Amino acid sequence: MNNENYISQTISVSYGKQESAIVPQTKMKQSLVSGWRKKFAVLSFRLTIIGIAIKSYNNPWNWIYIPLSLIKLRRKTLGQHYLTKLACVDNRYYWGLYAPGWNGIAFQKFIAAEMNHIIPVKQKVNRFINTYVAITKKCSLQCEHCYEWENLNKKETLSPPQLKRIVAKIQEQGVSQIHFSGGEPLLKMDLLIDILCSAKKETDFWVLTSGFKLTSTNAKKLKKAGLNGVMISLDHFEPEKHNQFRGFKEAFYWVENGVQNAIDNQLVVALSLCTTKEFTTLDNLYTYANLAKKMGVSFIQFLEPKAVGHYSGKDIFLSDNQIKMLEDFYLEMNYNPKYKEYPLISYHGYYQRRQGFFAAGNRSLYVDPDGDINACPFCQTKTGNVLDDDFENSILKLQNLGCHQFNAKQN
Ligand code: SF4
Repeated sequence: MNNENYISQTISVSYGKQESAIVPQTKMKQSLVSGWRKKFAVLSFRLTIIGIAIKSYNNPWNWIYIPLSLIKLRRKTLGQHYLTKLACVDNRYYWGLYAPGWNGIAFQKFIAAEMNHIIPVKQKVNRFINTYVAITKKCSLQCEHCYEWENLNKKETLSPPQLKRIVAKIQEQGVSQIHFSGGEPLLKMDLLIDILCSAKKETDFWVLTSGFKLTSTNAKKLKKAGLNGVMISLDHFEPEKHNQFRGFKEAFYWVENGVQNAIDNQLVVALSLCTTKEFTTLDNLYTYANLAKKMGVSFIQFLEPKAVGHYSGKDIFLSDNQIKMLEDFYLEMNYNPKYKEYPLISYHGYYQRRQGFFAAGNRSLYVDPDGDINACPFCQTKTGNVLDDDFENSILKLQNLGCHQFNAKQN
């Protein structure tokens, strides 16, 4: 049986008669483009990149050398693989979850910053590709893997003006994407809208959410305020198992609703999966991908479990075989034309094992719900507070500390 037949059969077995209730078939989906349309978009990216090189360098040699170097760098990370599809949402094209969509100011600044790593450019560039900013400690869920477990539902320490100041300070440094997290950021809708409205529109904004409270009205308000995408956690294709993992009996319901409301409002949608030891089998990965395709999302993110927060001290690590399985699945889904209608997969572990770690103040950092900066949400090594005067020194300290798990190999 080929994989697609296998997938169809498995999903039918999983849901039986409930299938159409869980995943409505008639609603809007996000488009994945392939074939000539994808080729045309890639050509347009490349022309834009040459245009950015012309603006960024006086020496005409660099106008070609730098775009070619960017392609070479990408191949070094990914190998000789060619994406068979791009996501297209609200007239912007996305080839990855951690790069702003083409075209627009966020994309142009992102590319100029990448060029600057090869040969310094004339203009001021973004310091960070992305920053996670936790805006609340409040959450209604109790997830098995929660990295903010020790802080959850404690008293908030940051006021709304302080949170807006944090975003402004990060934007002063230059950042291509800000991912708002928590706690559950959607529990603070008014605050989130206020932050989005006051932020400069030169960054792509995302929300990391369980989907809780991502109603149609909220999705509309968020889009209007300038949100670009939502990353919704879904840790199992079986509703009961997802609810159990999340410690919340309506968790799956909110994922389904949140996904549809976000899609209806032209937000880019990614599903984020914690690839636990129990979940990671080939059958489960195909069934999950098929559900994601039916839901109509653009991306799936694989997050390997980390022994922090609620998982602290637990034996949660994947076997070598499971890591190999995830890597093979990631390559198959993204680069085999057979899966061109499936969401793109983002898998940090794949890049980090080959290219090193770009967080820890180098191209990314995590601002926790107290305003302290950390290497990433899973590597909580506080080196200072964004609101302190010596924020710059705190970033340098973070860069020196690096990441405990992967060595940073900067180009
Ligand atoms: S992982 Fe997120 S949704 Fe789950 S308990 Fe922690 S903050 Fe809440």
